[in-house]
Amino acid sequence: MAMHGKNFLMVPGPTNVPDRVLRAMHRNSEDHRSPDFPALAKTVLENMKVVFGTTTGRSFIFPASGTGAWEAALTNTLNKGDKVISVRFGQFSHLWIDMMQRLGLDVTVFDVEWGEGLPIDMLSNCIAKDTRHEYQAICIVHNETTTGVTTDIAAVRHILDRYNHPALLMVDGVSSIASIPFKMDEWKVDLAITGSQKGFMLPAGLGMVCASPRALERSKKNNLPRVFFSFEDMIVNNDVGYFPYTPSIPLLYGLKESLAMLMEEGLENVYARHRRLATGVRKAVEAWGLKICCKNPKEYSDTVTAVVVPEGFDAQQVIRIAYEKYNLSLGAGLMKVRGRVFRIGHLGDLNELMVLATLAGTEMAMSEVGIPIKLGSGVAAASEYYMKTSKQVRGLLNNGK
Ligand code: PLP
Repeated sequence: MAMHGKNFLMVPGPTNVPDRVLRAMHRNSEDHRSPDFPALAKTVLENMKVVFGTTTGRSFIFPASGTGAWEAALTNTLNKGDKVISVRFGQFSHLWIDMMQRLGLDVTVFDVEWGEGLPIDMLSNCIAKDTRHEYQAICIVHNETTTGVTTDIAAVRHILDRYNHPALLMVDGVSSIASIPFKMDEWKVDLAITGSQKGFMLPAGLGMVCASPRALERSKKNNLPRVFFSFEDMIVNNDVGYFPYTPSIPLLYGLKESLAMLMEEGLENVYARHRRLATGVRKAVEAWGLKICCKNPKEYSDTVTAVVVPEGFDAQQVIRIAYEKYNLSLGAGLMKVRGRVFRIGHLGDLNELMVLATLAGTEMAMSEVGIPIKLGSGVAAASEYYMKTSKQVRGLLNNGK
């Protein structure tokens, strides 16, 4: 069926690509060995570090996705059989753990109910007991996109520091970096990982990693095999402005533009915008009388909200009707929460009216499925909140003027 208007792409990645970025990517292929190429490569590699919150780290861009960036972080720094710690609280932490196991790492997994965050006390006990420093790394997903739970990376760093534990801190920032605060240097993250298709507002296709000096040291001695994802090969080539293989040149131009947009807005403003838009979504869910999958309000994600449908209803139906009737793409519930939740992605190139239209489409789809919500109630709650806070944000966007 022909659809008019734009598809409302409100899944938590891939996110909408701004026109400026689309235009920047719309170009013929170029010679990636030309004398002009290093200017582009060096600009993006340098500027992405600002978004990761690092001056001391080294940045890498692989022609891959977030999954590739996971693999790069693990294979460049760990040895076969190394003991690592991780927490499984959604599909993405599950998949990363699965990768660790398939790479031959010995993973101690802390399973928590989906919707909960890190079991800080358990992690702390585990680190406290490891007086022989057998654990080589602790690998945490910052923002679990399945459940909309944001974890406290500073708290994990605090545990490692308290026990003077040298384990590497690896953080998946796929659905957090460039949308909510991420402070690689301040949190002493050793490997920070993301993909291009979320906060960076690009298509999928870049697996981005920043590695601390400590992680780079380990990469000189560790023994897990890697070829495509070799830090060493990248470093040799990046140092002179090139890549060890053919990079995606349109995506690099797109990244240059999206980094310029993030800098023009200012990261603090980017974070404030995400917080405010997310708060509006949460007000709507409250007005509907529904539950958010994330249990602890302190851990509510400002990039994605997983909405729990009442017992007896199928969230997949809401998603199907939203798509088929209203051209609105909502995120599906994954694995354990399939059918129980739908997800509203609120990250990237987004404003108030896009959220309000999404809430309207979601309300119509839910009503058609028979979920007892009052039509218009979520839209009203969110728009009231946006009106009340618009001055504050306009101020922020104008640097307080
Ligand atoms: N980690 C998180 C938190 C994600 O949300 C995703 C994808 O949505 C991934 C990892 C995997 O990234 P990709 O699909 O780019 O390989």
